[in-house]
Amino acid sequence: MMDKPKFDRPVINRINAGVPDKFGMRTNIRPITTIDNVSINRLLKEYGSPLYVLSEQTIRDTYREAESAFKTRYPKVQFAWSYKTNYMNAVCRVFHQEDAWAEVVSGFEYEKAIANGVPGNKIIFNGPDKSRSDLELGIKNGSLIHIDHFDELYEIIDIVDDSEEIAKVAIRINMDTGIYPQWDRFGFNFENGEAWAAVNKIMTQEHLELMGLHTHIGTYIMTPVSYGIATRKMAELAVRIDRKFDHVIKYIDVGGGFASKNTLKGAYLPGSDTCPSFDEYAEAITDALNNSDIRHDRMPTLFLETGRALIDDAGYLAGTVLANKRLADGRRSLVIDIGVNMLFTSFWYEHNIVPAQEHQQDTEDTTIYRPLCMNIDVIRSAVQFP
Ligand SMILES: *Cc1c(COP(=O)(O)O)cnc(C)c1O
Repeated sequence: MMDKPKFDRPVINRINAGVPDKFGMRTNIRPITTIDNVSINRLLKEYGSPLYVLSEQTIRDTYREAESAFKTRYPKVQFAWSYKTNYMNAVCRVFHQEDAWAEVVSGFEYEKAIANGVPGNKIIFNGPDKSRSDLELGIKNGSLIHIDHFDELYEIIDIVDDSEEIAKVAIRINMDTGIYPQWDRFGFNFENGEAWAAVNKIMTQEHLELMGLHTHIGTYIMTPVSYGIATRKMAELAVRIDRKFDHVIKYIDVGGGFASKNTLKGAYLPGSDTCPSFDEYAEAITDALNNSDIRHDRMPTLFLETGRALIDDAGYLAGTVLANKRLADGRRSLVIDIGVNMLFTSFWYEHNIVPAQEHQQDTEDTTIYRPLCMNIDVIRSAVQFP
């Protein structure tokens, strides 16, 4: 008897190659076969799959674009690379070569910055968790210590009181900039007078020098106007300090938080269309400074601690398709060797996934996942994919 032929479940697909999607364009997926002119296939062959790849050229181009947005609008600008955003030594060193200082939030990162050759006086030491020995080292090296709370302030006073040393400090300030929920866990509050109280305490200390004012209003902030408000509030404080103590604030640090071009889950349009440009952020911040009451001969240096917006576009994760299959509802799915353990951000970003080979243009609604044996291990739950 003849074997019964194997049954293949029929699938009906709308053919959408060449047909407009809801934005009036056809889904046109271009492969990425090289990064910085190096073939991805070659990289995978040489280093294995999956593989993180960072484009040095993209890092440098993005940095220069950001820097020029600010430097063309304000004379004194200094970027400090946010180590916690990506503290791979090679990445940090590219930023330092481009002239960025280091911004660190732990003793571990502080030591990394020193090991990467950053002079102590070009390290900004942030964060609520600095041990006594971290503080002692930072002060000894002349780093800028950004004070988070009163207990830290008292500890610094205790360290320098009986010594010859001067601690160079700034205060971290939290404030209402129209971003909700407001980030009020870090630093001293502006509106309730806490920041002003901290300034007054610092200014009466012989061994403390108040160098700057700092804020970091949040992350993935899509409204440049919030930075304008933050800058204006810090400029007001600088004027008040000048008036009461005849003391010049050397820098105003507006932190990080510029949105990168990633697309958030649930967003209607891609991040590359909706996120403000560096120019828009720069315009809001430098406008607030240029139009403030700070005396023209006492204008502070503008510090920026931009993180994700400088690095996100440079990162790739290359992987391999392990299998093609159909889910119970007939939807196409790809099993790949990249799981959410390697790409944790896929929980909140719709990462752009494209083939690394030439391919045909027909696309189909596809789920891309990896069998970490948890149902949540999905890299993209629905994407048009060839
Ligand atoms: C995380 C952080 C940054 C960088 O934030 P991004 O959102 O990556 O730009 C800058 N400053 C401080 C104090 C931070 O904690």
